[in-house]
Amino acid sequence: FSFARGDSVVVLGLGRFGGALAQSLVELGHDVMGIDSDGALVQHWADRLTHAVQANATDVSVLRQLGVADFAHGIVGIGTDLAASLMSVVALTELNIKDIWVKAMTPEHGRIAERIGAHHVVYPEADMGLRVAHLISRRLMDYIEFEDGFAIAKILAPAMCQDQSLAASGVRERFGVTVVGVKRSRQDFQHATPDTVVRPGDLLIVSGPTKRVEQFAAQAL
Ligand code: ADP
Repeated sequence: FSFARGDSVVVLGLGRFGGALAQSLVELGHDVMGIDSDGALVQHWADRLTHAVQANATDVSVLRQLGVADFAHGIVGIGTDLAASLMSVVALTELNIKDIWVKAMTPEHGRIAERIGAHHVVYPEADMGLRVAHLISRRLMDYIEFEDGFAIAKILAPAMCQDQSLAASGVRERFGVTVVGVKRSRQDFQHATPDTVVRPGDLLIVSGPTKRVEQFAAQAL
């Protein structure tokens, strides 16, 4: 189930996560209804979202009256109040929303949400913690990890591949990762080819299984 441009999205809970998400979805061209029990927050978002409504997101009859059943996607951004988060998921399933996303604070929260009908669970705080750890360690200077344990990262070129071509250093055979691009200081990123020669201080864009990418990056320390 993917987002089509203009699809309508209902966001339950306009806290830091839900609010930022709702605003980005509007900027991406979606019709967004944001719902929060906090009147001041609803005021704050009123002119930035297609609709902002003060209501209890756990109340299925209220949601029905608001027309939530017509929305293509529902996102529960209520995190700290576990009961309210789960009841909101149930309400969205009762309204037969076909694509339900939930922000979860713990794996247990996420597991229960999936059992009661959520289609996707995200863990923004845990994910951001992992990400910042990688960035602080400088091992991975930037990275994206995909759901299936596959990552793409920016790293400093390890010594084992310096002053020779990628074909000669055999990065893919030895580490199971693929160098996608190379950046020399003050130059743009270049697509990597087997003939690309890596110099000390170059930055590499590397893709592969996350563990392999981390092992390869560790060679640079
Ligand atoms: P964040 O960390 O993203 O700010 P929170 O879990 O602290 O997330 O905030 C969730 C938001 O959800 C708050 O703005 C709160 O007012 C709202 N909220 C909590 N329970 C309900 C509910 N039953 N109905 C509607 N909004 C709710």
